[in-house]
Amino acid sequence: MRREQWIGGLLFLGLIALVALGQWRIGVRRRSTPVAVLHRPRAVMGTTCSMAVVVFERDRAKAEEALQAAEIVLRRIEARMSSWLDDSEISALNTARPGVHVPLEAETLEVLRAASEAAARTGGTFDVTCGPLVRLWQQAGLEGVLPRQAALDRARAASNWSLFDLDAAGATRHSQDACVDLGGITKGYAIDRAVEVLQAAAFSGGLVDVGGDLRCFGRDMTGKPWPVDLQNPFGRGRVARLEVSDTAVTTSGNYARYAEIDGRRYSHIIDPRTGRPAEAAASVTILAPEAMTADIWATALGVLGLDGFALLPEGVEALIVIGDEHNYRVYCTPGCRGLLVEPLPRQLSVWDSAGP
Ligand code: AMP
Ligand code: MG
Repeated sequence: MRREQWIGGLLFLGLIALVALGQWRIGVRRRSTPVAVLHRPRAVMGTTCSMAVVVFERDRAKAEEALQAAEIVLRRIEARMSSWLDDSEISALNTARPGVHVPLEAETLEVLRAASEAAARTGGTFDVTCGPLVRLWQQAGLEGVLPRQAALDRARAASNWSLFDLDAAGATRHSQDACVDLGGITKGYAIDRAVEVLQAAAFSGGLVDVGGDLRCFGRDMTGKPWPVDLQNPFGRGRVARLEVSDTAVTTSGNYARYAEIDGRRYSHIIDPRTGRPAEAAASVTILAPEAMTADIWATALGVLGLDGFALLPEGVEALIVIGDEHNYRVYCTPGCRGLLVEPLPRQLSVWDSAGP
């Protein structure tokens, strides 16, 4: 073999070795850098859903399996508790003959019990027995006509926990007009159960978001707390950004769902004390360890506004936007202020339960 051929052959082998080494390096980097595996199931609870877990590339299959399992949990809870589905357990309760006991699965009963306890803790402002009022105002929105006083009085009389009994195996309704609506609590409960599925698989971080309500655990794929943008209730863009880990963040506002009658917007949250749509806030965001707690308090503070700060349990933080698009202020608890990142909203006031 000629000398040039030898050198050519050595150079070629060297090149292969370099490429192989390079690929090996890339391979190592890929396997040792965490990635977020995303899952976006369609039409969960009538809204958008995205879930993520942080894993090393080699654990992708395990991540996908856990995310599928979490989706199944979300869908199971929706199937049991939605009042939009005729064959749900809640629809069975809402259409049962008065006085007839309706057997319920343990998790449906758990949510009903939590809702009943929440009514007491929120001064009656979180009340799932407001179903008749919710329906009345939904219908008013569809027709574009305000409800008549007689219809309002009837719906108010039918919206009361005294018209339901819960026991160890199910529930009984005592009036033909009474119905429960778990729309203000199911999402939170479902998010908690889905997060449990992901946490059981011991991922270093994860997040479940259903329609903008979410709960995250651990860190994101960059090793930092999860960034969460709070939508401006009056238009595009965000009103604030939070960085959180091991926290649920839920928002109730009248920008996402509302009824319009005579050019005026009416919130989908009912003030059980008046039977009318709540007007206290443009949006309420709650931070709590569990999504169900956050969901409950977001709805309750939608009714109570700033007065609700005094009722918040330990470990539950709030941010409220009050006013209109031309003139609004953002109020938050000191604990929430600590989680806001720059740039802060210009119109920010920090309130503790005693006031500013
Ligand atoms: P959220 O978006 O979590 O505030 O939930 C709002 C939904 O909860 C409404 O669409 C109704 O289905 C239901 N709801 C309305 N008002 C109340 C209330 N005062 N207490 C409990 N649930 C309510
Ligand atoms: Mg809620």
